[in-house]
Amino acid sequence: MERLRHTDIKYLRGIGPRRAELLDKSFGIKTYYDMLYHFPTHYVDRTTIRRIAEFEGEDMPAVQVRGRFVSFNMLGEGAKMRLVGLFSDKSGTMEIVWFQRAKAMRDIYRTHTDYTVFGKPTLFNGRWSMVHPEIDPPSTPLAQGGFRGVYPLTEQLRNKGFTSRTFAGASAEILAGAQVIAETLPPHIVSRYALLDLRTALCAIHNPPTMAVLDRARLRLKFEELFYLQLDIQRYARRRSSTTQGFRFPRIGQFFNNFYSQFLPFPLTGAQKRVIKEIRADMGTGRQMNRLLQGDVGSGKTLVALLTMLIALDNGFQACLMAPTEILATQHYETIREMVAPMGVNVRLLTGSTRKKERDEIDAQLRDGSLHILIGTHAVIEDRVKFHNLGYVVIDEQHRFGVAQRARLWTKNVIAPHVLVMTATPIPRTLAMTVYGDLDVSVIDELPPGRKPVQTLLRYDENRLATYQGIARQLKMGRQVYIVYPLIKENEKLDLRSLEEGYENICEIYRDYRVAYVHGKLKPEEKDYQMSIFASGEAQILVSTTVIEVGVNVPNATTMLIENAERFGLSQLHQLRGRVGRGEGQSYCILMTKRKIAKDTRKRLELMTATTNGFEIAEADMQMRGPGDIEGTMQSGIPFDLHIANLATDGQIVQMARDAACEVLDADPDLTNPANAVLVRQLSLLNSRIRDWSKIS
Ligand code: ADP
Ligand code: MG
Repeated sequence: MERLRHTDIKYLRGIGPRRAELLDKSFGIKTYYDMLYHFPTHYVDRTTIRRIAEFEGEDMPAVQVRGRFVSFNMLGEGAKMRLVGLFSDKSGTMEIVWFQRAKAMRDIYRTHTDYTVFGKPTLFNGRWSMVHPEIDPPSTPLAQGGFRGVYPLTEQLRNKGFTSRTFAGASAEILAGAQVIAETLPPHIVSRYALLDLRTALCAIHNPPTMAVLDRARLRLKFEELFYLQLDIQRYARRRSSTTQGFRFPRIGQFFNNFYSQFLPFPLTGAQKRVIKEIRADMGTGRQMNRLLQGDVGSGKTLVALLTMLIALDNGFQACLMAPTEILATQHYETIREMVAPMGVNVRLLTGSTRKKERDEIDAQLRDGSLHILIGTHAVIEDRVKFHNLGYVVIDEQHRFGVAQRARLWTKNVIAPHVLVMTATPIPRTLAMTVYGDLDVSVIDELPPGRKPVQTLLRYDENRLATYQGIARQLKMGRQVYIVYPLIKENEKLDLRSLEEGYENICEIYRDYRVAYVHGKLKPEEKDYQMSIFASGEAQILVSTTVIEVGVNVPNATTMLIENAERFGLSQLHQLRGRVGRGEGQSYCILMTKRKIAKDTRKRLELMTATTNGFEIAEADMQMRGPGDIEGTMQSGIPFDLHIANLATDGQIVQMARDAACEVLDADPDLTNPANAVLVRQLSLLNSRIRDWSKIS
């Protein structure tokens, strides 16, 4: 393996310096090793021939067709020139299109000769076509290769004649020439989990003899990636929890007890109580707490934050609550101040728009310790903000914050404060295990009593009138309404409803009501003003973009209309919907969309109408879109790139890898056993990417 890592890909037969450069530019393939680990994204059954007449569906996989070219036509001119071949099997015809090297292609292929073409059929102007398919010459035996890998390719590579076959061939050549492929997992793990050895797995992943062997090869390679990921996370977590000193909060005192007995606005739910106990136990250990609190929208996380902040106060420490937006920080501030000001707790709000005079006051109080709870946006982690003794930090809706921002909070103390990260985006368990692998997790899995689940309805443009009438009925009952748009301004390129246009429209339709509006481009004062007239009920309708997504709490708002709902991801829709259903009244969420939407989109929207369970939605969202889409920050939370494993779909293997990693570390915490030498070596190879963020959570 060492040799493979150091042999330049340009030395491989048929590559040479120019193509090597292109491989590097396209996929970072520099060495034999890189080539071996450039895997196919999927496989096609080259033993089956499909009939053109049977093509169907919007998103067909790549298929193999056998037939002949009937004619060739050069179309277009200059840069737009393309070659179109009419290709026919006995059942029907399709077009085969070359945009690149059109002239050359015309000379390669001829009519009245059998070819096997392989590519992804798309329907264009009512006719099936394939763009730049792979074409096997007539002499190629049909079932050769069985299953063939399809590799990611760039246009440039294609132009230089690269095909999936080039990649499969290159890997085969490297493997054939390599005398040893050193095993990268210790033998005890390979045998314990009955894994394929590395050479066999690599051969099979590029050139699978059968589906069964391919499955085993994938399992082996996915397991390996996830195993090292888990080993790294677990080793780090264990080291941290045994060494990182934290404040000990042994006391429950005046603040907590007073509030609990006299000011608690309602009895806690069972889940809130349990979570508070978990946090309290952590705070008492003398080790620093790093806990993730997951709780669906409306599950009452704020109260948990407050009660646990009071514990910090009881032990003589300051607490800080950080929210991702000014609106949300302000709302937290108002709710919390109202609840605890009567007990003499000093709460202040710090955001980007806090005036200088007030800032100075806050700074002074922070330093002399008379300020108990600081609530704010990321303004609270600016360097100038210095606490007297910060003991506890709550971060609301963490996915909005970069990991780097969390790191800065840490550096405010010599001893790190306890950290509670609250998120309303339920994170599927297997993803949490990886991204937050070293956080402890608490879950609020119960909503406060008396909530009626929001009714979610899918409506089309032709139902618009009836929908507006339904909204009018809610308004007449004294309820408030959100209307959400995907865009602020009209955009020629996108056929979407915009807030500006919508605002005028809505004012026109509901003349008797006042309409407020918020969007991301408003000045903070304007935004606050608009929000405040909606929150107070002076305005009955709030027209907005997704800025209201997080946290906003107006219990009297019972209806939300989401325009172009097809444009939003499931988790985002769920967040938006969480703004209604916060009070006594039955609430509605109307997903408005065009009648014609893709099948997947319809499936997504129908799921929204079927469930209000955030975990179910998050799981489905991840299955449909893959974890990469969920949040940029989460992805960057993963220490190594995954080549083959998929956190969304390989949940079982994640679990298996985690168990294996824990077993290894239980038996050999410092990995000093010679049988584990390979683990140490692999980890340090993988870890050559610096993890300076790792200290923080
Ligand atoms: P989230 O978890 O989305 O941050 P909030 O903390 O904003 O939820 O709480 C949502 C609403 O539920 C608030 O109006 C809050 O006052 C109310 N609430 C919280 N806990 C309880 C409870 N135990 N019983 C009744 N209502 C509660
Ligand atoms: Mg909240």
